[in-house]
Amino acid sequence: MDSKELFEKACEYIPGGVNSPVRAFKSVDMNPIFIDYGKGSHIFDCEGNSYIDYICSWGPLILGHSFDILTKNIQKVFEKGTSFGLPTKKEIELAEIICSAYPMDMVRMVNSGTEATMSAIRVARGYTKKDKIIKFEGNYHGHSDCLLVETGSGALTFKNPTSAGVPLDMVKNTIVCKYNDIDSVKEAISKNKNEIACIILEPIACNMGLVCAKKEFLQQLRNICDKEKIVLIFDEVITGFRIAFGGASEYYEIVPDMACFGKIIGGGLPIGAYGGKKEIMEIVSPSGNVYQAGTLSGNPLAMEMGIRQISYLKNHTEVYKNIREYALNLKNAIEKIIIKYNLPCSVVCCESLLTIFFKKGEILSYDDVKDCNTKAFSKYYKSMLKQGFILPPSQFEGIFISNAHTRQDLEKTIIAMENALKDCFL
Ligand code: PLP
Repeated sequence: MDSKELFEKACEYIPGGVNSPVRAFKSVDMNPIFIDYGKGSHIFDCEGNSYIDYICSWGPLILGHSFDILTKNIQKVFEKGTSFGLPTKKEIELAEIICSAYPMDMVRMVNSGTEATMSAIRVARGYTKKDKIIKFEGNYHGHSDCLLVETGSGALTFKNPTSAGVPLDMVKNTIVCKYNDIDSVKEAISKNKNEIACIILEPIACNMGLVCAKKEFLQQLRNICDKEKIVLIFDEVITGFRIAFGGASEYYEIVPDMACFGKIIGGGLPIGAYGGKKEIMEIVSPSGNVYQAGTLSGNPLAMEMGIRQISYLKNHTEVYKNIREYALNLKNAIEKIIIKYNLPCSVVCCESLLTIFFKKGEILSYDDVKDCNTKAFSKYYKSMLKQGFILPPSQFEGIFISNAHTRQDLEKTIIAMENALKDCFL
């Protein structure tokens, strides 16, 4: 069956034919492509078409598809049993590696990034005995109720939920501030004195296209949280072990009180984790009274893949150098194309993440991105796909570069991008 037929069949049994909305390709006016397999920097669809892949499973595959260090002899782990619901040594091993890479004392494994942020917020609330939380416009932290708050314009007001099915009551304690705007945070705190449990943010925002926090902004958040006894939570689900081995915390040299992980730490298997200072994490059940649990948490296969991937990254620091150089070369080439044809675009890049915004000007907040030319993006997207490159199918995402991407991939990508951008505007 081709992708079209599979999609028709999928729609009979799965809402919208997909198990996560972005896979439906709606924002680029297309139908989903069904994938058969991946190897290195390439994926192959069910019709045998191959693509250079810049989705990389939305982040986990920093070493590319089916990387042999990860997959070799994995069958042996499988044969020992896929789940016990009892502790295994591997859980300690992965926890130890994560805590040695990141400035935190303890970590709890869960099954997704959504679970990690949801649980971290519960812990922050339990620890501070306060209810309100601050999040930022355009930051995504998964789909738990209190974080699904409208990310539209206007800060400091209690917003409507982004999704039907989330009662207003569930978001009444969520305050939305503006990214990179410390005044919006100060105002929110002064209006809610001694009521804020935590501030959660993506230290590099990856879900409104790539938007980097200013270091000064993060430092000011750190200072405010110290002064007001608010728990600072970095959502490092994408940035953890990608921006640097020690994530955005290492990159900016700022230590949060808690951090959330997912994606890379599971090597492509379902995983999440949240952690922080011992004093905070000890209130998690059973050592404390904040309840959080999971049948498949610490799953032995996910632990094994995570240990393999993170150990490899630890012992091969050149990976970070490679992917950074690749992204930088791509960014420089795109900038040249933008200047050459005087295109209404800009490019943001941080380490191995990159977004071409279909508008000009500095990009620092949700306000800066929301008027991007999504129609032009959609045209660009289709042209890239036709030339054999699969990018995240939305203007408001970044592309993911893996260590499996080669110099030849880069050269081909630059040529294709020049063609695609010309197709859009000239
Ligand atoms: N936090 C961030 C920054 C994310 O990008 C995502 C998902 O992309 C999540 C949390 C939720 O993770 P998951 O999809 O594993 O639930």
